[in-house]
Amino acid sequence: MGFNVAIDGPAGAGKSTIAKRLAKELGFIYVDTGAMYRGIALYMIRAGIDSHDEAAVSAAVPDAGVSIKYEDGVQKIILNGEDVSGLIRTEEVSAAASTTSAYKAVRARLLDLQRDLAAENDVIMDGRDIGTTILPDADVKIYLTASVECRAKRRYDELTAKGESHELSKIEEDIRQRDHQDMTREISPLKKADDAVEVDSSEMNIDEVVAAIREIINK
Ligand code: C5P
Repeated sequence: MGFNVAIDGPAGAGKSTIAKRLAKELGFIYVDTGAMYRGIALYMIRAGIDSHDEAAVSAAVPDAGVSIKYEDGVQKIILNGEDVSGLIRTEEVSAAASTTSAYKAVRARLLDLQRDLAAENDVIMDGRDIGTTILPDADVKIYLTASVECRAKRRYDELTAKGESHELSKIEEDIRQRDHQDMTREISPLKKADDAVEVDSSEMNIDEVVAAIREIINK
């Protein structure tokens, strides 16, 4: 069994940025489970399957071969042999992933992949249900959160820096929608595990969050 750090929290709380940094510092593998759900969502979009049609999505899940590989320590998402890492960060895939990740067949498909990685390696794994469902015995559990306004502003700044113009209010609305979907679904909803340490990053910069979590890990 590797040393396992679980980081859960809502979209835009900074999980992946923080987890990547910590993994590098500690020499652990960073496992981005959201990217796996995005890979499956991309498969459905390409196949013309409506993400709201649970029966159709579930029937197609066995055809969506998602795996990961590491290149220079960076996780790549492989969909049926194709590296789709650059194609899964769109708003369309975000919305579809949030919808399809509520389905039992989708979650069951990714459970073993995530557990096997944690069994074989020292990992920092981020997602929504890592501390509650995937790795209930993780050595360290963090629930990283921030206010909706703050998460929306960060996403807005990120998109603006990329030269994309989006309305802040629309981004905020999308985040509220995804929070609602992730927190109210029946299977593995997003929630803080009883034994997780909550870190609210609203008023913290990246260095401060990394330092705070490092301290929790080293305790
Ligand atoms: O973390 P990220 O935003 O990339 O995740 C995309 C979507 O995948 C989330 O909105 C969430 O619905 C789903 N997800 C999940 N369980 C995880 C990771 C992500 O349901 N462990």
